[in-house]
Amino acid sequence: MKEILDAIQSPDATSADFAEVPLPDSFRAITVHKDETDMFAGLGPREKDPRESIHLDEVPLPEIGPGEALVAVMASSVNYNSVWASIFEPLPTFGFLERYGKLSELTKRHDLPYHIIGSDLAGVVLRTGVGVSVWKPGDEVVAHCLSVELESADGHNDTMLDPEQRIWGFETNFGGLAEIALVKSNQLMPKPAHLSWEEAAAPGLVNSTAYRQLVSRNGAAMKQGDNVLIWGASGGLGSYATQFALAGGANPICVVGSEQKADICRKMGVTAIINRTAEDYKFWKDQHTQDPREWKRFGNRIRELTGGEDVDIVFEHPGRETFGASVYVTRKGGTIVTCASTSGYLHEFDNRYLWMSLKRIIGSHFANYREAWEANRLIAKGKIHPTLSKVYPLEKTGHAAYQILTNQHRGKVGILTLAPREGMGVRDEEMRATHIKAISRYRLNGQDDELS
Ligand code: NAP
Repeated sequence: MKEILDAIQSPDATSADFAEVPLPDSFRAITVHKDETDMFAGLGPREKDPRESIHLDEVPLPEIGPGEALVAVMASSVNYNSVWASIFEPLPTFGFLERYGKLSELTKRHDLPYHIIGSDLAGVVLRTGVGVSVWKPGDEVVAHCLSVELESADGHNDTMLDPEQRIWGFETNFGGLAEIALVKSNQLMPKPAHLSWEEAAAPGLVNSTAYRQLVSRNGAAMKQGDNVLIWGASGGLGSYATQFALAGGANPICVVGSEQKADICRKMGVTAIINRTAEDYKFWKDQHTQDPREWKRFGNRIRELTGGEDVDIVFEHPGRETFGASVYVTRKGGTIVTCASTSGYLHEFDNRYLWMSLKRIIGSHFANYREAWEANRLIAKGKIHPTLSKVYPLEKTGHAAYQILTNQHRGKVGILTLAPREGMGVRDEEMRATHIKAISRYRLNGQDDELS
């Protein structure tokens, strides 16, 4: 591994040098284990502790197949899907790996008793498989997490509709929380030159998801002037949705759970902010009964912030706890766009408010190839910025996942994989200097006010 790192750190290393760097037989990776999927039996989702199920193992290097790339991972990030994988909710991920393993000779490699998780990376291409012509060893890259086979016409217009669509590092093996990852070469995209490895690894999954969900015509197709209600506005998805709303000329109404998070939104330029904890919304009277008076109180609060207008779009992901309110507060003809159900996937809403007011609910999931590319392009151009708040070494991944599960984090949490320290990998210092305030906002808030 040392020779790989030396090549990456050498300013003179050529593609030929990288192609000749010997690959190790094994590498360190974050895994969950198939024989432990029952370890939390009888516990509720919030009582399951990722620190117990997440392992740092030495694993063998997978063989590279046609159209694939092996990447030296300098940094990765923890997404909520790694949290789900680590608590085996709603299902253990090994069922995904078994099904994928049955697809072809090549995919068999994924069906293992351990699952290397992680759906983001920033790093350097080490080897490419047969048929790869665009990428070569030594290229500095990030990877999006869409894995598709594209053998069916169903996915040819929108790659997310491929029947064999999977999320790399969640529904496939050899993910990004490792020193070496295996990806399909068409997951690769250029690493934004003005960012460090850990900053470049942070946006991938959530930025692409928020882009499709809010901006793309496959999602809510947000336009200038739209009022956009954003749940969890300083969380992983929400911190990008907020940036898309601001950059696209919309009016974000940001919902957050603390004053500190409200402050980050303010510093991003948001004026309409709802602190759901301080205002104490209780949309459910008990486990089975919602309280429409609370929906109304929430709607009135939104109108106070918008000068009497309702929202055109709700950016939904908390799910069961908020969905009834989200449907209620959407304006006539408006859109509720959802990509998740963190608080429970059996939603309940009053359908009269949907049909009588001609509202639409749109389901959205990650992003197709093109949307992921466009989302990364916006990062590379400095239009949208990483929202990295904290960075941990690989061996602390369990702790990072626990922080996310218990909602103690903000923005994204990064992981250093091969990078020996933070701040490495910046190739365009001039551009970085232009955007340093925005790039650092999530990290420095409350600690260094002159930069925020
Ligand atoms: P995150 O970083 O934890 O952010 C979610 C935010 O939502 C939290 O910071 C919290 O903010 C807010 N929240 C949590 N529970 C809530 C509740 N009951 N009511 C209101 N607000 C609540 O997670 P994320 O990365 O944004 O992901 C959120 C969900 O989306 C996860 O379930 C994840 O698996 C899913 N997801 C799906 C896709 C996809 O492609 N389908 C992609 C990415 C993520 P406050 O406490 O500040 O309000």
